[in-house]
Amino acid sequence: MDNPAALRHLPRKDEGDHTMTTGFFWDERCFWHAGGNYAFTMPVGGLVQPLAAGGLPENPETKRRMKNLMEVTGLFDELDTRSAAPASREALARVHPESYLDEFKRLSDAGGGDLGHAVPFARGGYELAALSAGLAIAAVDAVARGDLDNAYALSRPPGHHCLPDLPNGFCLLANIAIAIEAAQAKGLAKRVVVLDWDVHHGNGTEAIYYDRDDVLTISLHQEGNYPIDTGGLADRGRGAGGGYNINLPMHAGSGHTAYLHAMDRVVIPAIEAFAPDMIIVACGYDAAIVDPLARMQATAATFAEMTKRIRDTADKLCDGKLVLVHEGGYSEAYVPFCGHATIAALAGSKIDAPDPMARSLHARQPSPAFDAFLRQSIDDMAWQLDL
Ligand SMILES: [Zn+2]
Repeated sequence: MDNPAALRHLPRKDEGDHTMTTGFFWDERCFWHAGGNYAFTMPVGGLVQPLAAGGLPENPETKRRMKNLMEVTGLFDELDTRSAAPASREALARVHPESYLDEFKRLSDAGGGDLGHAVPFARGGYELAALSAGLAIAAVDAVARGDLDNAYALSRPPGHHCLPDLPNGFCLLANIAIAIEAAQAKGLAKRVVVLDWDVHHGNGTEAIYYDRDDVLTISLHQEGNYPIDTGGLADRGRGAGGGYNINLPMHAGSGHTAYLHAMDRVVIPAIEAFAPDMIIVACGYDAAIVDPLARMQATAATFAEMTKRIRDTADKLCDGKLVLVHEGGYSEAYVPFCGHATIAALAGSKIDAPDPMARSLHARQPSPAFDAFLRQSIDDMAWQLDL
């Protein structure tokens, strides 16, 4: 094949007999989103010395290194790689008030600023956030239309914490909700599941859909991490949305088997009962054992196994329509291996990037006794959720 670009768009053989095409939506400019002068999550000043590398934990390197690893192994070339147009003002305004968008744009044009809880942005941040949302819109649109079998959107800045009028947790626009609303406006999707396995509570997505019964929101997260005061088991939705929000606040220290148990015992039964026509995953990698912003013990293999389970569920329920949208994950060294394992599983690829830390991370998994406690606590929550 002389033309590598053409090669990217060839459907490939899956593990079975059918061919499938997985889209990968990314844009170099999303790596150029820049925050303020922070050391970890602390603004620099007073006794907080600037870091040599500088900035918030949400930085481009986790994502860029993930894409780089995919290029080095060849996985990147197996995918249908695309960029996208920025989300239009009309698309953003389906989720966010005009007043918020106006203020965000004004500050962005004026040199940058901060509109929420430690979510700084530089000049042009508005356009970069709209591009990040645009990647999610395009991924959902292409899969909903059947143009791609499934897709991954490497959105940055992330979106799952963003409330309609209050950015927080590094999130400036609610990427997934914006993409769902765009698809619904075009008649491409009716019933959608958002499964959020980022280690932090998907408070933004929850809030946007809390009153609605056409979008089932499920969040697996470390209890009491971020936001500290949201994500409770009893928060099930309101009015018509009653029963259509599921939070699974998991104990710190949950590892590989606890996460898979949560998928099997809670997530998949809930999705099957809902019968969606599309599944979207808010895909963060900060449940990984080495992440600086959480205390869970997932590994690259955990993300691969969760992806296989959700892919099988999508195959069974909604013709495989599945989109993963990138959220958190703050270990520059390890996110690339988690992301590679996830995307290889999504695409059914045989290209592997062996986890260099697999052996030591396996040895650090919870003891059998603690694991039994973790699984029992998930069973208890499932019982309270009527699952
Ligand atoms: Zn997170």
